Order: sequence, then structure tokens, then C-alpha cells
Amino acid sequence: MNTVIVPCSSCGKKNRIPANKQHLHPHCGHCKAPLKMTNQAVPVELGDRDFHDFVKQAPLPVMVDFFSPTCGPCRTMSPLVDAMAREHINKCIIAKVDTSKNQQIALFFAIRGVPTFMFFKNGSLIDQISGAVGRNVLEQKLGSL
Ligand SMILES: [Zn+2]
Repeated sequence: MNTVIVPCSSCGKKNRIPANKQHLHPHCGHCKAPLKMTNQAVPVELGDRDFHDFVKQAPLPVMVDFFSPTCGPCRTMSPLVDAMAREHINKCIIAKVDTSKNQQIALFFAIRGVPTFMFFKNGSLIDQISGAVGRNVLEQKLGSL
């Protein structure tokens, strides 16, 4: 599981937060002040082992970027996905799955091409879109959840 280092705005100490807990309003381990995750959060890296449990339990809508590290359009989309994770931390969860390492989950969803974006709410797949798309397209899908 990937992590994010978040400096506490109250005491200045750096906290290491697991990416899959970023949305749970984490507090500073030193002074207990709430950590401001906006502009700090990173996409949650999910895989074969933890995908279903995470999406099922997620209290917010989830957008998943199914990508492959060797795919050009995926790399083009990556900064946009990172930016959405930073900005939307309290509204939705942005996740990504490396399909070259997690083939079970790619098979489960019958993903034929990357990038593919899937949108989940209350554990259910609501919508999906394939190929490199503009931010407005992704925002619109998220907004409709
Ligand atoms: Zn602190």
C-alpha cells in the first residue's frame, strides 16, 4: 500500500498516512490536530488483493484509473489523476490499478484497453469510460454519482 507524507499544520511534524486511509480524516500522531489532506492526497494504489474490500467499504464515490506503466495515453493521464486526488479528497476517492501487476482484477472487469476509468458508488460499478479523455469528462462522471 502506498503512503503519503503530510506535514502537520499545527506542530509541523511529518505524518505518514496510508493512502487507503487518507479520506478517514486522519489526525497528527504527535499533537492529534486534524491533518489537512487537501492538496496532499495521492491516488490510492489498489490491486487484486484489496480492490473489492476497499471499494465495498468506501464511504465516498470512487474513481479508479486502470492503467499500464508502458501505455503512453496512461502516462499522459497520470498528472490529471494525481491532481484530482489532491483536490477531491473530501468529495471522492481517486484510486488506480496497475493492470500489468493485477491481472485478476483486470480480468474480473473484462478490461480490454487502458486507460479505463471506472466509477463506483456504494460498492457498485455505476459507469465507465475508456481511453484518454479530458478532465471535464471525468469530472462530469464523478459529479453525476
Ligand atoms: Zn501535529
